[in-house]
Amino acid sequence: MKKILITGAAGFLGSHLCDRFLNEGFKVIGMDNFITGDKRNLEHLKSNVNFDFIQHDVTEHITVDKNLDYILHFASPASPIDYLKIPIQTLKVSSLGTHNLLGLAKVKKARLLIASTSEVYGDPLVHPQTEDYYGNVNTIGPRGVYDEAKRFQESLTMAYHRVHGLETRIVRIFNTYGPRMRLNDGRVIPAFMGQALRGEDLTVFGDGSQTRSFCYIEDQVEGIYRLLLSDYAYPVNIGNHHEISILDFAQEIIKLTNTSQKIIFEDLPVDDPLQRQPDITLAKKLLDWEPKVGREEGMKKTFDYFKSLSKEDLFKRDHRDFSKHIKT
Ligand code: NAD
Ligand code: UDP
Repeated sequence: MKKILITGAAGFLGSHLCDRFLNEGFKVIGMDNFITGDKRNLEHLKSNVNFDFIQHDVTEHITVDKNLDYILHFASPASPIDYLKIPIQTLKVSSLGTHNLLGLAKVKKARLLIASTSEVYGDPLVHPQTEDYYGNVNTIGPRGVYDEAKRFQESLTMAYHRVHGLETRIVRIFNTYGPRMRLNDGRVIPAFMGQALRGEDLTVFGDGSQTRSFCYIEDQVEGIYRLLLSDYAYPVNIGNHHEISILDFAQEIIKLTNTSQKIIFEDLPVDDPLQRQPDITLAKKLLDWEPKVGREEGMKKTFDYFKSLSKEDLFKRDHRDFSKHIKT
């Protein structure tokens, strides 16, 4: 059986990737320090003999005693409110953490795929975003800690590929959603759905004219799976190209949840990208991949998941205690 290490396994994307690789007949080792993840995302794998879990902070030296064929590096805070609260951890996980994983991949002769992001394009001046666009990032703004760490992660990965001949893959993920997102992680889909379920007004930041393009988790996982098994070492955008303004999206959520919430407007966060849509021509050509799940279907499945959570989850504000992860 092929063995794969997945970092960020207790998170939203990582836990779905664990499921997918187990279903494909892999032995999966999950690794996570639970800083933004949730043990419950892996609960269903407890008795799976092909699944092991190591609780570990990937910014510290990593030891895995088994052989590895593949490594997926998905550990990193991903929600703006998370990485604004833990900026140094965010910088470290994609720099020091990636360095450790590249070293591990070299020793194990494993192929490493890193989770990059549409944020490497910053507030993009090219639209839709193609992989050859270099981006427009404010290095010293509050989002810089995430964007620049991910840009450094890509550079370091390419250097290991060029210098050591390491097999590497880079996926640039555009806004992905689905079950197992943290209801209170602050990203727009859990935020709006949580507000609808609690009977609160929906908070649109700015005038809501900024756009995003939302990709359902199953489509994202399929794209990542195909990219890992491809022979292409350069970055590939994976996302859904159907773009919508946040204001129209808020109205869609009100309709979907069949509620009568009002929309209220709050300040646009600093450096919030004004437009985002992936150009997926490369993924189509290279991986014969394109998204299949439309927004209506994906949002319904996601809303059903949030509805199934307990009242306690619904009314908990941010239950994260980051203090134990912050070393002096
Ligand atoms: P998430 O917060 O749900 O998952 C991240 C996981 O990484 C969590 O379980 C967290 O505990 C773990 N983690 C963080 N730092 C760690 C460390 N130092 N050591 C070990 N584990 C650590 O976020 P997600 O949405 O699942 O994102 C996963 C990856 O995908 C991230 O790298 C993110 O940058 C990338 N990504 C996600 C999206 C998206 O739309 N979901 C978009 C672009 C990129
Ligand atoms: N947003 C919003 N209201 C919220 C949360 C987010 O209007 O309660 C907006 C946010 O300003 C951004 C978009 O929704 O323009 C997507 O935000 P998210 O945090 O999901 O991710 P981003 O794509 O900015 O990383």
